[in-house]
Amino acid sequence: MAKVVKFGGSSLASAEQFKKVGDIIRADADRRYVVPSAPGKRDKKDTKVTDMLYACYELAEEDKDFSKELKAIRARYDEIIKGLKLKLSLDDEFDAIENNFKFKYGKDYAASRGEYLNGIIMANYLGYEFIDAADVICFNNDGYDVKKTNRLLAKRLSKCERAVIPGFYGALPDGSIKTFSRGGSDITGSIVARAIKADVYENWTDVSGFLVADPRIIDNPAGIETITYRELRELSYMGASVLHEEAIFPVRQEGIPINIRNTNAPEDNGTWIVESTCQKSKYVITGIAGKKGFCSINIEKEMMNSEIGFGRRVLQAFEQNDISFEHTPSGIDTFTVFVHQDEFIDKEQKVVSALHRLCNPDSIDIEADLALIAVVGRGMKSTRGTAGRIFSALAHSRINVKMIDQGSSELNIIIGVANADFEEAIKAIYDIFVTTKL
Ligand code: ASP
Repeated sequence: MAKVVKFGGSSLASAEQFKKVGDIIRADADRRYVVPSAPGKRDKKDTKVTDMLYACYELAEEDKDFSKELKAIRARYDEIIKGLKLKLSLDDEFDAIENNFKFKYGKDYAASRGEYLNGIIMANYLGYEFIDAADVICFNNDGYDVKKTNRLLAKRLSKCERAVIPGFYGALPDGSIKTFSRGGSDITGSIVARAIKADVYENWTDVSGFLVADPRIIDNPAGIETITYRELRELSYMGASVLHEEAIFPVRQEGIPINIRNTNAPEDNGTWIVESTCQKSKYVITGIAGKKGFCSINIEKEMMNSEIGFGRRVLQAFEQNDISFEHTPSGIDTFTVFVHQDEFIDKEQKVVSALHRLCNPDSIDIEADLALIAVVGRGMKSTRGTAGRIFSALAHSRINVKMIDQGSSELNIIIGVANADFEEAIKAIYDIFVTTKL
C-alpha cells in the first residue's frame, strides 16, 4: 500500500508544525511519498515564504539590494532547522539562490525555492530521499506534460521506497523552472499519486475537510464526510476553497480518493473525495457555495424560439469580446447571459452593439450586482421536493430569486439573487437543510 501525503504551508510554517507532520508520517508506514509546500503563515500577521520570495526577487529584477529580504527568508528556514535540531546547513543553497537572483533566473525560479528548501529540510528530518521536482515534473508550453511526467515519476519512484518531492514546480524542456498557479502543491501531490497509482492521496491542511457552507457566513457549519469529484468541482468553482481546483484531475483519472485532513487535529477523519459512493450524505444537500459580482444581460426578441442559430449568435457577441459566460437561462422570447461583472464592465457597450448587429433583438436589459449560489448534492436526484424547499426557505426570508438553473444531472441548483441578499440566502438554505435536518 502507498499513500501520497501533501502538507500545506501552515502545516510546515515552523519547527513545531514540522514535528506534528513528522508524527503523522511516522504513524503510518504507508505514508511513503511526501509533497511539502513552502512555509506558510505562523499567525495571521505573518507572511508566507512564497510571498517573501516574490518580493525579494522583484528587488533583484530591479537591480536593487535584496540582501535584507533574502536574510529574512533564510531566518525562516534556520528557525525550523534549529527547532528540529538537524545537522543541516543551507549555506550552499542560499549562495546559489543569491547568485541566480542576480542572474535573474525568473520569478518562477524564485517562488519555487520555497518548496525546494522545505523539501530538503523535510527529507533530512524524515530520513527520506529528496527528489527535486525539476527532475520529474515536466512542463511544456501548454502546461504540464502528463505523459512525460508520469513516465519519469513512475520510473524514479519505483526505485525508491520513501521520498520527498517538493510541490508547486517543475521544469520546462530547457531546464528552466516553471510553477503551477498559486496553491499548486496540491496539483503536485495529485500528479505523484497518479503516477504511482497510490491507494490514497492525503492532503493535510489546517481545517478538518470541507464544510457544508462558508464559516464566514454560517457559524460553525457542519463538515462534509464524503463528496464526489463532480460535487467538489461544482463547489470549488463556486468559491469553496480548500483544495486547488486543478488538483482533482490527475487522481480522478485513476480513481484515487483524496482525503483532506487536519495537521492540527489528526484524529479527525476529514473529508473523503471519491469518484462515486453509495454513502448518502448526512443531509439532502452536500454543500452550498456561491460568488458575488455577476451581471445579467437579458436579450428579448419576439419569436426567438423559432429563430435557428439565435443562441449561437448571442454567445458569439460575448466570444468576440473575449468574455466567458456562466449561465444562460432562456425563455420563449428571452435569452439571458450571466457574466462576471468585472470582466464585462469595460466592454459592455461593445457587447451591446455586437448583440444588435448579430441578433437584431427587440430590447437588451442589463442588471448588475448579482450573486450566484450553487446548492450541490448527489442526494437531490433521489429526493423529491428539494427545489421546493430551497425556494420556500428563500421566500420566507423575503429573498427575491432572479434566476434558477438546474442542470439535467440534478447534481446542483443554481440560484441568482441580488448581491445584497447573498449571505441571507445562504443562511436560509443552510437552515432548511442542515439546522432543521429536513
Ligand atoms: N507555496 C505556494 C503558494 O503559496 C504553493 C502552495 O503552497 O501550494 O501558493
